[in-house]
Amino acid sequence: MKGAEFTMDNEIVNKNKSDQDNNLPWFEGGLRFECQRCGRCCRGEPGVVWVNKKEVEEISAFLGISETVFARHYLRSVNGRLSLLEYGHGDCIMYDNGCKIYAVRPCQCRTFPFWTWNVESESEWEKVKRTCPGIGKGKLHTLKDIQGNLKVYGERFDS
Ligand code: SF4
Repeated sequence: MKGAEFTMDNEIVNKNKSDQDNNLPWFEGGLRFECQRCGRCCRGEPGVVWVNKKEVEEISAFLGISETVFARHYLRSVNGRLSLLEYGHGDCIMYDNGCKIYAVRPCQCRTFPFWTWNVESESEWEKVKRTCPGIGKGKLHTLKDIQGNLKVYGERFDS
């Protein structure tokens, strides 16, 4: 009896595993990405870089200024949310021959390029690759790593 239950349990486990395998995303073998710090994603066109309260605290502390001074010089309000300022030509205010706050960069920058729609399909990934020379280079990010990034990004920005 015990043996039969064990076999049945094993069958269920195997079936669940096979269901999971069938649901694996196209990037199950991982994706290579290593930022080349070229700045192409932070320069040259208008955009927003969202920051929340915790990031404001971290970045101000990193720059050694108060949050009030940081807000005055580096932030703007967009539709009721805070974004880093950018220059008129679209460069992020934090870009100066590389990211000035790379160690404490906001979630949006930290999780790039593993954003929901970038990995939606292989063709989307190929499109991002055309604009980001870091894609396809360097470190192989495992499925687990990528899913972790997607979760962080999704919890913050997908709704
Ligand atoms: S475009 Fe890619 S390689 Fe260049 S700075 Fe942005 S993430 Fe890094």
